[in-house]
Amino acid sequence: MSEDKTLFQKIIDREVDADIVYEDDQCVAFRDINPQAPTHILIVPRKPIPTVDDIEPEDEELVGHLFTVASDIADEEGLDNGYRTVFNCGDDGQQTVYHLHLHLLGGRQLSWPPG
Ligand code: AMP
Repeated sequence: MSEDKTLFQKIIDREVDADIVYEDDQCVAFRDINPQAPTHILIVPRKPIPTVDDIEPEDEELVGHLFTVASDIADEEGLDNGYRTVFNCGDDGQQTVYHLHLHLLGGRQLSWPPG
């Protein structure tokens, strides 16, 4: 039911608008509404896996696919000098939306360690 859907499921289902840059049968990618770098894109599996802790062995191919999509989008975005991919997990990881998503950040020199 709609009220059980995460925000990202609503974006996938076109119930909430987003700037979608890529989609296929396994995932949807859209620009973060509060970008932390010139390029900040979220790559979200259609399957509503809540967190990294909920990834099952059967999801390994899907999760790998998110990274190849990230690499392709980075290429499209011209991130030739590198970029960062991040999964935040749980409260300490500052995850705020409990639908797995891979952050793709680039277009500036990123610092390490993250805050
Ligand atoms: P996380 O903190 O890892 O769960 O990341 C959630 C991300 O979703 C944050 O970077 C938010 O800025 C982003 N976000 C929240 N609402 C939206 C939205 N409606 N469209 C696009 N990105 C969003």
